[in-house]
Amino acid sequence: MSTFKAPKGTYDLLPPNSASYLAVREAIAAPLRNSGYGYIETPGFENVELFARGVGESTDIVTKEMYAFETKGGDRLALRPEGTASVLRAALEANLHKGGNLPVKLWYSGSYYRYERPQKGRYRHFSQVGAEAIGAEDPALDAELIILADQAYRSLGLRDFRILLNSLGDKTCRPVYRAALQEFLRGLELDEDTRRRIDINPLRVLDDKRESVQEQLIGAPMLRDYLCEECKAYHEQVRELLTAAGVAFEDDPKLVRGLDYYTRTTFEFVHDGLGSQSAVGGGGRYDGLSEMIGGPELPSVGWALGVDRTVLALEAEGITLDIPAATAVYAVPLGEEARRVLFGTVTELRRAGVATDFAYGGKGLKNAMKSANRSGARLALVAGERDLGEGVVQVKDLESGEQTPVAVDAVVEEVRRRLG
Ligand code: ATP
Ligand code: MG
Repeated sequence: MSTFKAPKGTYDLLPPNSASYLAVREAIAAPLRNSGYGYIETPGFENVELFARGVGESTDIVTKEMYAFETKGGDRLALRPEGTASVLRAALEANLHKGGNLPVKLWYSGSYYRYERPQKGRYRHFSQVGAEAIGAEDPALDAELIILADQAYRSLGLRDFRILLNSLGDKTCRPVYRAALQEFLRGLELDEDTRRRIDINPLRVLDDKRESVQEQLIGAPMLRDYLCEECKAYHEQVRELLTAAGVAFEDDPKLVRGLDYYTRTTFEFVHDGLGSQSAVGGGGRYDGLSEMIGGPELPSVGWALGVDRTVLALEAEGITLDIPAATAVYAVPLGEEARRVLFGTVTELRRAGVATDFAYGGKGLKNAMKSANRSGARLALVAGERDLGEGVVQVKDLESGEQTPVAVDAVVEEVRRRLG
Protein backbone atom coordinates (compact mmCIF):
# COMPACT_ATOMS: atom_id res chain seq x y z
CA MET A 1 0.00 0.00 0.00
CA SER A 2 1.21 3.49 -0.75
CA THR A 3 0.80 6.37 1.67
CA PHE A 4 -1.98 7.74 -0.52
CA LYS A 5 -5.63 6.81 -0.61
CA ALA A 6 -8.44 7.87 -2.91
CA PRO A 7 -9.87 11.18 -1.59
CA LYS A 8 -12.90 11.06 0.71
CA GLY A 9 -16.12 10.40 -1.17
CA THR A 10 -14.39 8.86 -4.18
CA TYR A 11 -13.55 5.34 -5.21
CA ASP A 12 -11.61 3.62 -7.95
CA LEU A 13 -13.13 1.44 -10.62
CA LEU A 14 -11.06 -1.72 -10.82
CA PRO A 15 -11.25 -4.87 -12.91
CA PRO A 16 -13.22 -7.04 -13.01
CA ASN A 17 -16.06 -4.83 -11.65
CA SER A 18 -15.11 -1.90 -13.84
CA ALA A 19 -16.41 -3.91 -16.80
CA SER A 20 -19.98 -3.54 -15.49
CA TYR A 21 -19.57 0.24 -15.37
CA LEU A 22 -18.51 0.31 -18.99
CA ALA A 23 -21.39 -1.97 -19.91
CA VAL A 24 -23.87 0.27 -18.06
CA ARG A 25 -22.59 3.37 -19.85
CA GLU A 26 -22.91 1.59 -23.15
CA ALA A 27 -26.39 0.28 -22.39
CA ILE A 28 -27.62 3.78 -21.52
CA ALA A 29 -26.01 5.31 -24.60
CA ALA A 30 -27.24 2.68 -27.07
CA PRO A 31 -30.90 3.79 -27.29
CA LEU A 32 -29.76 7.43 -27.65
CA ARG A 33 -27.34 6.68 -30.46
CA ASN A 34 -30.16 4.83 -32.12
CA SER A 35 -32.50 7.83 -31.89
CA GLY A 36 -30.61 10.69 -33.48
CA TYR A 37 -28.53 11.86 -30.52
CA GLY A 38 -24.94 12.90 -31.35
CA TYR A 39 -22.05 12.56 -28.89
CA ILE A 40 -20.79 15.69 -27.15
CA GLU A 41 -17.89 16.14 -24.75
CA THR A 42 -17.28 19.31 -22.77
CA PRO A 43 -14.52 20.30 -20.30
CA GLY A 44 -14.51 18.98 -16.74
CA PHE A 45 -14.63 22.57 -15.46
CA GLU A 46 -16.45 25.73 -16.50
CA ASN A 47 -16.63 29.36 -15.45
CA VAL A 48 -18.33 29.27 -12.09
CA GLU A 49 -21.07 31.69 -13.21
CA LEU A 50 -22.39 29.13 -15.68
CA PHE A 51 -23.66 27.16 -12.68
CA ALA A 52 -24.04 29.94 -10.10
CA ARG A 53 -26.22 32.05 -12.27
CA GLY A 54 -27.17 34.97 -10.04
CA VAL A 55 -30.64 34.72 -11.56
CA GLY A 56 -33.32 32.21 -10.77
CA GLU A 57 -33.65 30.21 -7.61
CA SER A 58 -30.77 28.93 -5.58
CA THR A 59 -30.07 25.23 -5.20
CA ASP A 60 -28.08 22.96 -2.90
CA ILE A 61 -25.76 22.20 -5.78
CA VAL A 62 -24.72 25.83 -6.07
CA THR A 63 -24.84 26.87 -2.43
CA LYS A 64 -23.24 23.82 -0.82
CA GLU A 65 -21.97 21.25 -3.26
CA MET A 66 -19.88 23.05 -5.84
CA TYR A 67 -16.12 22.68 -6.12
CA ALA A 68 -15.32 26.30 -7.01
CA PHE A 69 -11.79 27.68 -7.14
CA GLU A 70 -9.66 30.46 -8.49
CA THR A 71 -6.85 29.66 -10.90
CA LYS A 72 -3.34 31.12 -10.81
CA GLY A 73 -4.47 33.38 -13.65
CA GLY A 74 -7.41 34.66 -11.59
CA ASP A 75 -10.20 32.80 -13.42
CA ARG A 76 -13.10 31.69 -11.24
CA LEU A 77 -13.87 28.11 -12.25
CA ALA A 78 -15.92 25.20 -10.92
CA LEU A 79 -15.64 21.46 -11.45
CA ARG A 80 -18.85 20.61 -13.27
CA PRO A 81 -21.58 19.44 -10.87
CA GLU A 82 -23.95 18.49 -13.72
CA GLY A 83 -24.04 18.27 -17.50
CA THR A 84 -26.99 20.28 -18.80
CA ALA A 85 -25.59 23.80 -18.38
CA SER A 86 -22.28 22.82 -20.01
CA VAL A 87 -23.94 21.09 -22.96
CA LEU A 88 -26.23 24.05 -23.58
CA ARG A 89 -23.31 26.47 -23.25
CA ALA A 90 -21.32 24.44 -25.80
CA ALA A 91 -24.24 24.15 -28.23
CA LEU A 92 -24.84 27.91 -28.10
CA GLU A 93 -21.14 28.70 -28.43
CA ALA A 94 -20.88 26.54 -31.57
CA ASN A 95 -24.19 27.89 -32.93
CA LEU A 96 -25.53 24.36 -33.27
CA HIS A 97 -29.02 25.81 -32.85
CA LYS A 98 -28.62 27.97 -35.95
CA GLY A 99 -28.31 25.15 -38.47
CA GLY A 100 -32.09 25.23 -38.99
CA ASN A 101 -32.16 21.74 -37.60
CA LEU A 102 -33.94 21.88 -34.25
CA PRO A 103 -34.01 20.13 -31.91
CA VAL A 104 -30.27 19.66 -31.48
CA LYS A 105 -30.05 16.22 -29.87
CA LEU A 106 -26.91 15.42 -27.89
CA TRP A 107 -25.73 12.75 -25.48
CA TYR A 108 -22.78 12.71 -23.11
CA SER A 109 -20.99 10.54 -20.61
CA GLY A 110 -18.56 11.65 -17.95
CA SER A 111 -17.51 12.53 -14.42
CA TYR A 112 -19.30 15.03 -12.20
CA TYR A 113 -18.25 16.54 -8.88
CA ARG A 114 -20.28 17.56 -5.86
CA TYR A 115 -19.06 18.27 -2.35
CA GLU A 116 -21.62 16.08 -0.58
CA ARG A 117 -21.71 14.05 2.61
CA PRO A 118 -20.44 10.71 1.28
CA GLN A 119 -22.56 7.62 1.83
CA LYS A 120 -23.63 4.61 -0.16
CA GLY A 121 -24.78 5.85 -3.57
CA ARG A 122 -23.66 9.42 -2.83
CA TYR A 123 -20.13 10.33 -3.79
CA ARG A 124 -18.06 13.44 -4.45
CA HIS A 125 -17.00 12.15 -7.81
CA PHE A 126 -19.60 10.20 -9.78
CA SER A 127 -20.51 9.34 -13.30
CA GLN A 128 -23.52 10.18 -15.45
CA VAL A 129 -24.73 9.48 -18.94
CA GLY A 130 -27.06 12.21 -20.13
CA ALA A 131 -29.12 13.41 -23.06
CA GLU A 132 -30.36 16.85 -24.08
CA ALA A 133 -32.79 17.83 -26.84
CA ILE A 134 -32.36 21.55 -27.38
CA GLY A 135 -34.68 23.97 -29.13
CA ALA A 136 -38.07 22.30 -29.49
CA GLU A 137 -41.27 22.35 -27.52
CA ASP A 138 -43.03 19.12 -28.33
CA PRO A 139 -44.53 16.67 -25.84
CA ALA A 140 -43.30 13.81 -28.06
CA LEU A 141 -39.73 14.89 -27.31
CA ASP A 142 -40.32 14.73 -23.55
CA ALA A 143 -41.93 11.33 -24.04
CA GLU A 144 -39.08 10.14 -26.28
CA LEU A 145 -36.50 10.82 -23.60
CA ILE A 146 -38.44 9.04 -20.88
CA ILE A 147 -39.07 6.07 -23.18
CA LEU A 148 -35.36 5.84 -24.06
CA ALA A 149 -34.29 5.87 -20.41
CA ASP A 150 -36.86 3.18 -19.66
CA GLN A 151 -35.52 1.15 -22.60
CA ALA A 152 -31.93 1.56 -21.32
CA TYR A 153 -32.79 0.33 -17.83
CA ARG A 154 -34.82 -2.57 -19.19
CA SER A 155 -32.02 -3.60 -21.55
CA LEU A 156 -29.87 -4.03 -18.44
CA GLY A 157 -32.50 -6.32 -16.96
CA LEU A 158 -33.69 -3.85 -14.31
CA ARG A 159 -37.30 -4.22 -13.24
CA ASP A 160 -37.71 -2.72 -9.75
CA PHE A 161 -37.64 0.91 -10.83
CA ARG A 162 -40.47 3.39 -11.08
CA ILE A 163 -40.92 6.55 -13.08
CA LEU A 164 -42.25 9.55 -11.16
CA LEU A 165 -43.76 12.30 -13.30
CA ASN A 166 -44.87 15.86 -12.64
CA SER A 167 -45.29 19.22 -14.34
CA LEU A 168 -43.69 22.31 -12.81
CA GLY A 169 -45.64 24.80 -14.92
CA ASP A 170 -44.12 27.62 -16.92
CA LYS A 171 -43.25 31.27 -16.48
CA THR A 172 -46.94 32.20 -16.47
CA CYS A 173 -48.39 29.84 -13.88
CA ARG A 174 -45.36 28.89 -11.77
CA PRO A 175 -44.88 32.35 -10.15
CA VAL A 176 -48.52 32.44 -9.06
CA TYR A 177 -48.14 29.06 -7.44
CA ARG A 178 -44.79 30.00 -5.92
CA ALA A 179 -46.36 32.97 -4.16
CA ALA A 180 -49.26 30.86 -2.86
CA LEU A 181 -46.86 28.22 -1.57
CA GLN A 182 -44.67 30.82 0.13
CA GLU A 183 -47.66 32.21 1.96
CA PHE A 184 -48.63 28.73 3.16
CA LEU A 185 -45.07 27.84 4.22
CA ARG A 186 -44.61 31.07 6.19
CA GLY A 187 -47.39 29.91 8.51
CA LEU A 188 -45.54 26.71 9.50
CA GLU A 189 -43.15 25.84 12.33
CA LEU A 190 -39.88 25.49 10.46
CA ASP A 191 -36.20 25.78 11.33
CA GLU A 192 -33.99 28.67 10.25
CA ASP A 193 -32.51 26.88 7.20
CA THR A 194 -35.88 25.83 5.86
CA ARG A 195 -37.29 29.33 6.40
CA ARG A 196 -34.52 30.69 4.21
CA ARG A 197 -35.53 28.20 1.56
CA ILE A 198 -39.03 29.64 1.51
CA ASP A 199 -37.57 32.80 0.03
CA ILE A 200 -35.06 31.37 -2.40
CA ASN A 201 -36.48 27.99 -3.50
CA PRO A 202 -39.84 27.27 -1.83
CA LEU A 203 -40.69 24.28 -4.07
CA ARG A 204 -37.70 22.50 -2.59
CA VAL A 205 -39.39 22.50 0.84
CA LEU A 206 -41.99 20.08 -0.56
CA ASP A 207 -39.13 17.67 -1.12
CA ASP A 208 -38.01 17.73 2.55
CA LYS A 209 -37.54 14.15 3.73
CA ARG A 210 -38.22 14.84 7.46
CA GLU A 211 -41.51 13.59 8.84
CA SER A 212 -41.91 16.67 11.06
CA VAL A 213 -41.94 18.76 7.88
CA GLN A 214 -44.01 16.38 5.77
CA GLU A 215 -46.77 16.34 8.43
CA GLN A 216 -47.11 20.09 8.19
CA LEU A 217 -47.24 19.99 4.41
CA ILE A 218 -50.62 18.26 4.39
CA GLY A 219 -52.96 20.75 2.83
CA ALA A 220 -50.20 22.71 1.08
CA PRO A 221 -51.25 24.20 -2.25
CA MET A 222 -50.39 21.85 -5.11
CA LEU A 223 -48.85 23.05 -8.34
CA ARG A 224 -51.19 20.75 -10.21
CA ASP A 225 -54.10 23.02 -9.23
CA TYR A 226 -52.31 26.10 -10.53
CA LEU A 227 -51.19 24.86 -13.97
CA CYS A 228 -52.31 27.09 -16.85
CA GLU A 229 -54.33 25.57 -19.70
CA GLU A 230 -51.27 25.27 -22.00
CA CYS A 231 -49.22 23.47 -19.35
CA LYS A 232 -52.10 21.16 -18.53
CA ALA A 233 -52.66 20.22 -22.17
CA TYR A 234 -48.92 19.72 -22.73
CA HIS A 235 -48.61 17.48 -19.71
CA GLU A 236 -51.65 15.46 -20.71
CA GLN A 237 -50.05 14.77 -24.09
CA VAL A 238 -46.82 13.57 -22.50
CA ARG A 239 -48.83 11.24 -20.29
CA GLU A 240 -50.82 9.88 -23.23
CA LEU A 241 -47.72 9.23 -25.31
CA LEU A 242 -46.07 7.34 -22.47
CA THR A 243 -49.17 5.27 -21.90
CA ALA A 244 -49.42 4.48 -25.62
CA ALA A 245 -45.78 3.35 -25.54
CA GLY A 246 -46.55 1.00 -22.65
CA VAL A 247 -44.28 2.89 -20.25
CA ALA A 248 -45.80 2.92 -16.78
CA PHE A 249 -45.36 6.04 -14.64
CA GLU A 250 -46.70 7.47 -11.40
CA ASP A 251 -48.01 11.00 -11.11
CA ASP A 252 -46.09 12.63 -8.28
CA PRO A 253 -47.44 16.13 -7.64
CA LYS A 254 -44.66 16.79 -5.11
CA LEU A 255 -41.76 15.96 -7.39
CA VAL A 256 -39.65 19.11 -7.74
CA ARG A 257 -36.02 18.04 -8.37
CA GLY A 258 -32.85 19.75 -7.24
CA LEU A 259 -31.99 22.01 -10.15
CA ASP A 260 -33.60 25.41 -10.44
CA TYR A 261 -34.15 25.60 -14.17
CA TYR A 262 -36.84 22.98 -14.70
CA THR A 263 -40.19 23.92 -16.25
CA ARG A 264 -43.16 21.78 -17.22
CA THR A 265 -42.26 18.08 -17.50
CA THR A 266 -40.08 16.77 -14.65
CA PHE A 267 -39.40 13.16 -13.92
CA GLU A 268 -37.28 10.94 -11.78
CA PHE A 269 -36.38 7.27 -12.01
CA VAL A 270 -36.30 5.69 -8.56
CA HIS A 271 -35.17 2.21 -7.69
CA ASP A 272 -36.76 0.42 -4.78
CA GLY A 273 -33.68 -1.57 -3.77
CA LEU A 274 -31.40 1.38 -2.97
CA GLY A 275 -32.54 2.73 0.39
CA SER A 276 -32.36 6.49 0.78
CA GLN A 277 -30.26 7.20 -2.33
CA SER A 278 -33.07 5.86 -4.47
CA ALA A 279 -32.95 8.21 -7.49
CA VAL A 280 -31.06 6.50 -10.29
CA GLY A 281 -31.77 9.26 -12.78
CA GLY A 282 -33.85 12.28 -13.48
CA GLY A 283 -34.53 15.13 -15.78
CA GLY A 284 -37.07 17.38 -17.33
CA ARG A 285 -37.82 20.38 -19.46
CA TYR A 286 -35.79 23.55 -19.00
CA ASP A 287 -37.38 26.10 -21.29
CA GLY A 288 -35.79 29.11 -19.59
CA LEU A 289 -32.19 27.99 -19.14
CA SER A 290 -30.86 29.23 -22.48
CA GLU A 291 -32.01 32.77 -21.75
CA MET A 292 -30.61 32.52 -18.22
CA ILE A 293 -27.14 31.98 -19.67
CA GLY A 294 -27.46 34.73 -22.27
CA GLY A 295 -28.79 32.69 -25.21
CA PRO A 296 -31.97 32.98 -27.25
CA GLU A 297 -35.26 31.36 -26.27
CA LEU A 298 -34.65 27.63 -26.74
CA PRO A 299 -37.13 25.34 -25.02
CA SER A 300 -35.32 22.11 -24.22
CA VAL A 301 -35.60 18.85 -22.36
CA GLY A 302 -33.08 16.33 -21.05
CA TRP A 303 -32.08 13.80 -18.44
CA ALA A 304 -29.04 12.44 -16.65
CA LEU A 305 -28.79 8.90 -15.35
CA GLY A 306 -26.33 8.04 -12.59
CA VAL A 307 -23.98 5.23 -13.56
CA ASP A 308 -22.87 4.49 -9.97
CA ARG A 309 -26.41 4.08 -8.67
CA THR A 310 -27.45 2.08 -11.73
CA VAL A 311 -24.66 -0.39 -10.92
CA LEU A 312 -25.91 -0.52 -7.31
CA ALA A 313 -29.44 -1.15 -8.63
CA LEU A 314 -28.14 -4.09 -10.67
CA GLU A 315 -26.54 -5.50 -7.51
CA ALA A 316 -29.76 -4.96 -5.56
CA GLU A 317 -31.69 -6.98 -8.14
CA GLY A 318 -28.98 -9.65 -8.23
CA ILE A 319 -28.31 -9.04 -11.92
CA THR A 320 -24.90 -9.96 -13.31
CA LEU A 321 -24.34 -8.59 -16.77
CA ASP A 322 -23.30 -11.01 -19.43
CA ILE A 323 -19.85 -9.63 -20.11
CA PRO A 324 -17.69 -11.66 -22.50
CA ALA A 325 -14.27 -12.65 -21.11
CA ALA A 326 -11.67 -10.05 -21.98
CA THR A 327 -9.24 -12.71 -23.17
CA ALA A 328 -9.99 -15.57 -25.55
CA VAL A 329 -6.52 -17.02 -25.97
CA TYR A 330 -3.62 -17.17 -23.52
CA ALA A 331 -0.10 -18.07 -24.64
CA VAL A 332 2.31 -19.92 -22.35
CA PRO A 333 5.91 -20.13 -23.57
CA LEU A 334 8.37 -22.47 -21.90
CA GLY A 335 11.89 -21.27 -22.69
CA GLU A 336 13.49 -18.52 -24.76
CA GLU A 337 12.81 -19.93 -28.22
CA ALA A 338 9.14 -20.49 -27.34
CA ARG A 339 8.87 -16.90 -26.07
CA ARG A 340 10.04 -15.62 -29.43
CA VAL A 341 7.75 -17.87 -31.47
CA LEU A 342 4.62 -17.49 -29.32
CA PHE A 343 5.04 -13.73 -28.97
CA GLY A 344 4.90 -13.61 -32.77
CA THR A 345 1.75 -15.75 -32.79
CA VAL A 346 0.14 -13.51 -30.14
CA THR A 347 0.82 -10.41 -32.23
CA GLU A 348 -0.63 -12.10 -35.29
CA LEU A 349 -3.77 -13.21 -33.42
CA ARG A 350 -4.30 -9.72 -32.04
CA ARG A 351 -3.97 -8.23 -35.50
CA ALA A 352 -6.61 -10.70 -36.62
CA GLY A 353 -8.91 -9.35 -33.89
CA VAL A 354 -8.61 -12.25 -31.43
CA ALA A 355 -8.34 -11.12 -27.78
CA THR A 356 -5.04 -12.65 -26.73
CA ASP A 357 -2.70 -12.42 -23.75
CA PHE A 358 0.74 -13.75 -22.96
CA ALA A 359 2.47 -15.14 -19.86
CA TYR A 360 5.05 -12.43 -19.19
CA GLY A 361 7.88 -12.48 -16.71
CA GLY A 362 9.18 -15.97 -17.36
CA LYS A 363 6.59 -17.78 -15.19
CA GLY A 364 6.84 -21.51 -14.69
CA LEU A 365 4.24 -23.77 -16.33
CA LYS A 366 2.08 -24.12 -13.21
CA ASN A 367 1.82 -20.41 -12.52
CA ALA A 368 1.33 -19.57 -16.16
CA MET A 369 -1.57 -22.05 -16.45
CA LYS A 370 -3.16 -20.49 -13.36
CA SER A 371 -3.00 -17.10 -15.06
CA ALA A 372 -4.43 -18.62 -18.21
CA ASN A 373 -7.42 -19.96 -16.28
CA ARG A 374 -7.91 -16.71 -14.39
CA SER A 375 -7.94 -14.75 -17.65
CA GLY A 376 -11.15 -16.46 -18.71
CA ALA A 377 -9.53 -17.60 -21.98
CA ARG A 378 -11.04 -20.53 -23.85
CA LEU A 379 -7.76 -21.68 -25.36
CA ALA A 380 -4.18 -21.79 -24.17
CA LEU A 381 -1.22 -22.05 -26.52
CA VAL A 382 1.59 -23.97 -24.83
CA ALA A 383 4.99 -24.57 -26.39
CA GLY A 384 8.33 -25.84 -25.05
CA GLU A 385 11.59 -26.85 -26.72
CA ARG A 386 10.36 -30.31 -27.65
CA ASP A 387 7.16 -28.96 -29.29
CA LEU A 388 9.11 -26.46 -31.33
CA GLY A 389 11.58 -29.18 -32.33
CA GLU A 390 8.58 -30.96 -33.84
CA GLY A 391 7.34 -27.70 -35.40
CA VAL A 392 4.14 -27.60 -33.30
CA VAL A 393 2.37 -25.63 -30.58
CA GLN A 394 -0.04 -27.36 -28.15
CA VAL A 395 -3.53 -25.87 -28.39
CA LYS A 396 -5.27 -26.61 -25.11
CA ASP A 397 -9.02 -26.26 -24.60
CA LEU A 398 -9.23 -24.80 -21.08
CA GLU A 399 -12.76 -26.07 -20.52
CA SER A 400 -12.29 -29.73 -21.48
CA GLY A 401 -8.55 -29.87 -20.79
CA GLU A 402 -8.04 -31.51 -24.17
CA GLN A 403 -4.73 -30.71 -25.85
CA THR A 404 -3.82 -31.02 -29.58
CA PRO A 405 -0.54 -30.32 -31.36
CA VAL A 406 -0.95 -27.87 -34.24
CA ALA A 407 1.74 -26.89 -36.76
CA VAL A 408 3.26 -23.51 -35.83
CA ASP A 409 2.23 -21.77 -39.04
CA ALA A 410 -1.33 -23.14 -38.84
CA VAL A 411 -2.02 -21.99 -35.26
CA VAL A 412 -3.70 -18.67 -36.10
CA GLU A 413 -6.07 -20.32 -38.54
CA GLU A 414 -6.84 -23.20 -36.15
CA VAL A 415 -7.54 -20.81 -33.26
CA ARG A 416 -9.88 -18.71 -35.38
CA ARG A 417 -11.68 -21.84 -36.54
CA ARG A 418 -12.14 -23.06 -32.96
CA LEU A 419 -13.38 -19.71 -31.68
CA GLY A 420 -15.87 -19.60 -34.52
P1 ATP B 1 -30.25 13.33 -5.05
O1 ATP B 1 -31.64 13.83 -4.77
O2 ATP B 1 -30.07 11.88 -4.72
O3 ATP B 1 -29.19 14.21 -4.45
P2 ATP B 1 -30.06 14.79 -7.50
O4 ATP B 1 -31.42 15.29 -7.72
O5 ATP B 1 -29.06 15.72 -6.88
O6 ATP B 1 -30.08 13.42 -6.66
P3 ATP B 1 -29.43 14.88 -10.31
O7 ATP B 1 -28.75 16.18 -10.22
O8 ATP B 1 -30.76 14.83 -10.94
O9 ATP B 1 -29.48 14.20 -8.86
O10 ATP B 1 -28.47 13.84 -11.06
C1 ATP B 1 -28.98 12.74 -11.80
C2 ATP B 1 -28.50 11.42 -11.23
O11 ATP B 1 -27.11 11.46 -10.95
C3 ATP B 1 -29.11 11.05 -9.91
O12 ATP B 1 -30.37 10.46 -10.10
C4 ATP B 1 -28.11 10.07 -9.35
O13 ATP B 1 -28.27 8.78 -9.93
C5 ATP B 1 -26.81 10.64 -9.84
N1 ATP B 1 -26.18 11.41 -8.76
C6 ATP B 1 -26.43 12.69 -8.37
N2 ATP B 1 -25.63 13.04 -7.36
C7 ATP B 1 -24.86 11.96 -7.08
C8 ATP B 1 -23.82 11.68 -6.14
N3 ATP B 1 -23.40 12.60 -5.28
N4 ATP B 1 -23.26 10.44 -6.15
C9 ATP B 1 -23.65 9.49 -7.02
N5 ATP B 1 -24.61 9.69 -7.93
C10 ATP B 1 -25.21 10.91 -7.98
MG1 MG C 1 -28.35 15.96 -4.97
